Amino acid sequence: MKKQINPSEVARETLIILASRKLAPTPENYSKVFQEISGVPAPVAAEDPPPNTGTPKLELAWSDLIQDLLRQLETPHKGITITRKKDGLETVLNRFSAKPDELFTKLQGLLRSWSTAPTASMDIPPPPAASGAATPVPGSAPQTGGTANPAAGVIAPPGSGGKDNAQGHQELISQLRELLAQTLENSLTTQPELSTEIKELAQQVRATDNNHIYELANKLRHFWIKLELRGGDKTRIQEGLVRLLRLLVENVGELVADDQWLHGQIVTLQEIIANPIDKRVIADAERNLRDAIVKQGLLQKSLSDAKSTLKGLMTAFIDRLGDLSETTGLYHTKIEGYGQKIGGASNLADLGHILEDIMHDTRIIQDSALRSHHELVDARKQADEAEARIKQLEQELEQISEMVHEDQLTGVLNRRGMDETFAKELHRADRGKTPVCVALLDIDNFKKLNDTLGHQAGDQALIHLARVIKECLRPADTVARYGGEEFVIILPDTPLKEGVEAVERLQRELTKKFFLNNNERILVTFSAGVALRNDDEDQEDILGRADKAMYLAKKTGKNRVIAAE
Ligand code: GH3
Ligand code: MG
Ligand code: MG
Repeated sequence: MKKQINPSEVARETLIILASRKLAPTPENYSKVFQEISGVPAPVAAEDPPPNTGTPKLELAWSDLIQDLLRQLETPHKGITITRKKDGLETVLNRFSAKPDELFTKLQGLLRSWSTAPTASMDIPPPPAASGAATPVPGSAPQTGGTANPAAGVIAPPGSGGKDNAQGHQELISQLRELLAQTLENSLTTQPELSTEIKELAQQVRATDNNHIYELANKLRHFWIKLELRGGDKTRIQEGLVRLLRLLVENVGELVADDQWLHGQIVTLQEIIANPIDKRVIADAERNLRDAIVKQGLLQKSLSDAKSTLKGLMTAFIDRLGDLSETTGLYHTKIEGYGQKIGGASNLADLGHILEDIMHDTRIIQDSALRSHHELVDARKQADEAEARIKQLEQELEQISEMVHEDQLTGVLNRRGMDETFAKELHRADRGKTPVCVALLDIDNFKKLNDTLGHQAGDQALIHLARVIKECLRPADTVARYGGEEFVIILPDTPLKEGVEAVERLQRELTKKFFLNNNERILVTFSAGVALRNDDEDQEDILGRADKAMYLAKKTGKNRVIAAE
């Protein structure tokens, strides 16, 4: 037989064996097993209570207590380390191993002191009913009010235990629910765009009953996947986009005053969303939009100041006119009266008086007219000044608006700028019955260039190509960035043959003007389709034909220029 020396270890072992054999923890059984393990009889205390002979109630209570002890020993509790728990257990076992009933009570107390402390993973306060019992000091476990019945403590006696456990279970679930809801709500700060969804979920977490818990779990899983997808660059892109949209929305109030302007901003955003999204493009757009909004705000204010000055002047002007007509109205009435008086005057003296009165009134009206004249000249001058200021401001505003016509990377026109130029050129061609050619260029193997030299080098290649195109074109021609690595050239007054030749010339030019990347010469080539505009053909159709020809150029070997049918 294996002899155990440490009495507390023997006592612990004894308890485990009692529980596993489902033996009642009577002093007899306890002593028997104690001796079996240690080879010596268990120390007997004088004041042992009468044996509680083998009721199944007690057997179960001990077994529950031990199981709970083991479980709680493993459970990480805040502020109580396992070593501390073991120390506590050791002390209780040392002091009370000879008195099973007292040992039971003390162990219960110890257990209570652990189990009412918050577990390490749950940083929320314990439920109010248990909060006063959290005293995790080893060996100083609270007493159980002197009850001799071990089943009356933490471990519920068989029969009533199911109910208490269920209650604890419910409490734990509601704590977990609260914790989950709070975690969700915490993520509000990092994911403000999802606030409605998060609030809804948190509310459901708090309210859903257990029958629908699986539906809720499913929802939470989807939400989590969504959050996951928001990781990395995507998060930054989404956040950038959201910032851009917010910027636009916040400034809509300012911008609606100028429909044209707002339209430009929206087109810019649409372009960003339509093209491959990357965080630099968003950052560029955001910076521009911000600048433009600030300037726009300033200009709008000066503009409205100038307008209200002019309005004030006009009001003064009209008031003065009113005064004038009132005075002259009175004058006319008086003159009419004088006319009658003159008609009725019978002597020279009377006429002399009337004449004097007329002269007097006429002088008054003349003064008034003169004053009005000066005021009007003055007002006119101010109005002219205000008008000139408004014109200047409007020009500045137009200049800023121009910015949204440009592609931020290459400085050539963007889609919006291209649309406007298209409209102008088609109109001009219609009037003058002149030919217009449109070329669509797409860089060859650009993805490979990006992959091998890096995205920044790709950007530089785009800038380089745009510069070479501009250098090579006539002043009347227009180049626009149509998409990622696609450019459109509008060649007014150009028949098809010349159009194709112009684009081929550009091709040759690119073989001379290399794109230099870290002093390495990189040959950038493109494939192009050139379409001559048919009578009354609209932009979409011309571009469609140019695109088809470009596609053919790609299919038949790239680095080619093909005339559209
Ligand atoms: P193909 O010869 O058939 O035209 O092949 P490609 O690789 O040029 O065409 P593809 O459409 O497969 O790839 C175009 C690439 O252009 C993919 C995209 O990442 C890149 N791109 C689009 N816009 C930009 C940009 O602004 N900067 C950079 N660096 N790359 C861009
Ligand atoms: Mg392409
Ligand atoms: Mg390409």
